[in-house]
Amino acid sequence: MIDSSSTPTTPAMPSIPASLPTVAVASLGGTISMTPSEAAGGVVPTLDATQLARSVPGLAEVAVIRTTSLRQLPSASLGYDDLMAALAWAEQEVEAGASGVVLTQGTDTLEETAFLLDLFWKSPAPLIVTGAMRAPQAAGADGPANLLAAVRTACHPDSAGRGVLVVMNDTVHYARWVSKSDALAVQAFASLDGGVAARLVEGRPTYFHGAAMRAQPLPRPVRAWPKVALVTAVLGDDGELAEMAVTGGYEALVVAAQGAGHVSFGYAQRIGTLTSRVPVVIASRAASGSTASQTYGYVGSEIDLARRGAHLSGWLSPLKTRLLVTALLASGTAAGDLGEALANWSKLTRR
Ligand code: ASP
Repeated sequence: MIDSSSTPTTPAMPSIPASLPTVAVASLGGTISMTPSEAAGGVVPTLDATQLARSVPGLAEVAVIRTTSLRQLPSASLGYDDLMAALAWAEQEVEAGASGVVLTQGTDTLEETAFLLDLFWKSPAPLIVTGAMRAPQAAGADGPANLLAAVRTACHPDSAGRGVLVVMNDTVHYARWVSKSDALAVQAFASLDGGVAARLVEGRPTYFHGAAMRAQPLPRPVRAWPKVALVTAVLGDDGELAEMAVTGGYEALVVAAQGAGHVSFGYAQRIGTLTSRVPVVIASRAASGSTASQTYGYVGSEIDLARRGAHLSGWLSPLKTRLLVTALLASGTAAGDLGEALANWSKLTRR
């Protein structure tokens, strides 16, 4: 059954078994919701959550679906407030009895939004984020299959306690590890370091490992979201752009550094002066792998940058590091305590 109100209702159709779980689905926009617009010359977000749910064959036999339309945006235009609204919606739905919740959105920022939501998600109930690489009218549109797989994952008992999960192409990813690794392919998401959480076969997710290790959820923001710059260190770069960001008012700086956390001699010198003004965090710009901490000793190496007061982000990608720094500062961490807060966050536990 598909119920478009956001309050719990009793299934009206007698053919629905009473034992069906309830899954709440909310839409934020993205390709999954896009239809062609002559005026725009391409597809734009138009479909709401109820229309998306109704387009999925067999969905009503899997769960009682409660739909809510939160936004109709391309995902590059989602902001922190949109995501906090989605988080509040998800919490309310779980409190109202949903076994799990599913958010549909654009895939372009999905690795960021899933991670940001995961930082604050306290419930053992699964919060699933999904989308589509092909719009609904395209041949082989993947949105309906992804939504069905997301709902099946949301109400599967093995999905509990794993935080925010991304379901795309019959594959389940952890928010911490997932990245968009292809701009247009249907197989667009990868979890290069941590590995995928599960794959769906015949509609059932098979998890490859037991309970997930998770960080403690962060307290909700207590202040305005800070501006945290993310700057990529490139060949022939002396860090001028990084300094301009700090001078321009950014409260913290994340450098997507070369290799295991390395920059040029000139960049290293600049970082040495910037760390006395704002927190500086070094992440690796490589597609996978961690920053080192005790391997290289030359000027601009990870050891040198740490000595100059920068923090090393370890396994977290630059995109996710920027969000973690932003969320820590927003939830009340003082700039001077950021290094300790990052280290504490990295202590994973089973929850
Ligand atoms: N290409 C995007 C998508 O997959 C558009 C967006 O992120 O909104 O949905």
